[in-house]
Amino acid sequence: MHPMMNQFKKYKTVMCPNCGFVQSTYANNIFKCFKCKKIREFIAKPSRNSPTSLNIKILFDSDNPNEVSRFTKRYKNAKNPE
Ligand SMILES: [Zn+2]
Repeated sequence: MHPMMNQFKKYKTVMCPNCGFVQSTYANNIFKCFKCKKIREFIAKPSRNSPTSLNIKILFDSDNPNEVSRFTKRYKNAKNPE
């Protein structure tokens, strides 16, 4: 259990700090990028402006996995329209 993650809901849309790849995850402490395969731990990096900021960017969080996958899809489509 990672105490800093308790404020987030179960399912999350996260951005890889290494390559910027956006994906959905339900992980709470370890994040593995589907694209670059890097494994990162969620580590809190508190700063004055955002006391709960993490090393891994969480774009969206929800208890509903469908909402999260929808957000992830929409975010990626907005970034790379095809
Ligand atoms: Zn990556």
